[in-house]
Amino acid sequence: MNASARPLRIGFIGLGIMGRSMAGHILAAGHDLHVYSRTRAKAEDLLQRGAHWCESPGEVAARSEVVITMVGLPSDVEQVYFEVRGILQSMRAGTLLVDMTTSSPALAARIAEAARAKGCGALDAPVSGGDIGARDAKLSIMVGGAQRDFDAALPVLRLMGSNIVLQGGAGAGQHTKMCNQIVIASTIVGVAEGIAYARRAGLDARTVLQSIGGGAASGFQLNVLGARMIEGDFAPGFFVEHFLKDLGIALGEASRMGLQLPGLELARSLYERLAARGGARDGTQALLKLYAD
Ligand code: NAP
Repeated sequence: MNASARPLRIGFIGLGIMGRSMAGHILAAGHDLHVYSRTRAKAEDLLQRGAHWCESPGEVAARSEVVITMVGLPSDVEQVYFEVRGILQSMRAGTLLVDMTTSSPALAARIAEAARAKGCGALDAPVSGGDIGARDAKLSIMVGGAQRDFDAALPVLRLMGSNIVLQGGAGAGQHTKMCNQIVIASTIVGVAEGIAYARRAGLDARTVLQSIGGGAASGFQLNVLGARMIEGDFAPGFFVEHFLKDLGIALGEASRMGLQLPGLELARSLYERLAARGGARDGTQALLKLYAD
């Protein structure tokens, strides 16, 4: 792969809320796109626009110079890379693997090691920016891996993101994403509590947002997710169950490093309560529901 305008054969696995938009940008840039996802219906739009369907992650890998994955959980990542008819079994030497799923740093290191043993490069490249960032190709992409692989991937990553930084070796992208999730966790609790307080004080939450959304508290969690809370729009941009997965990874890593994160623990306990009452497939802004009791 090189940075020239030559169309590349690019594979994309995992066409959910994020992956579908991201793969769409790659297709729109004129690359030859080969896709697979657990539920084929989610690929229909891309197939109509000229993408090619594959029957397994392995088939995607066999056809592609660059393979991008954007599945849900670390167990899904494990499956698409390591299982029979998976990526690692079927790829050719020289293929570049880019896992953009939010997953564990240790799994990223395992993939990089397995890829290296087969003459391939691997990057962990999780993202931030939400469903809107994916749709607008404005994601922040945090990358772990070798400089040479990062340089090779950059032209493709630029089709999906606007802030792309190499953070260190394999796993460093996932560690950086955990920093992001730790910041978000306490922030969104604050957003829900601010809105609950506004309502209890008899204020108009929309008007409150006009003021505080333009001050020092502004940001995606308040301005985008806070607005969805106020409108009662709890549809998923980012699933509660995926956030819980991230909080579990971050708390596990922190514990391994001997670091206490009480704010993060509190956020996890609140999200566990939300999931226990049926909110696992809501968007993370549904946290506000806990304050309606
Ligand atoms: P999603 O809508 O659930 O998308 C994941 C897609 O991967 C689904 O289409 C799923 O298939 C597919 N998939 C899962 N396991 C698979 C497997 N073994 N083989 C093939 N396909 C498989 O989730 P998302 O919101 O796009 O998030 C994707 C990842 O990005 C997650 O790790 C999430 O934490 C992270 N992330 C999300 C956001 C956000 O705002 N949404 C932001 C940053 C990062 P099905 O359709 O059958 O379920």
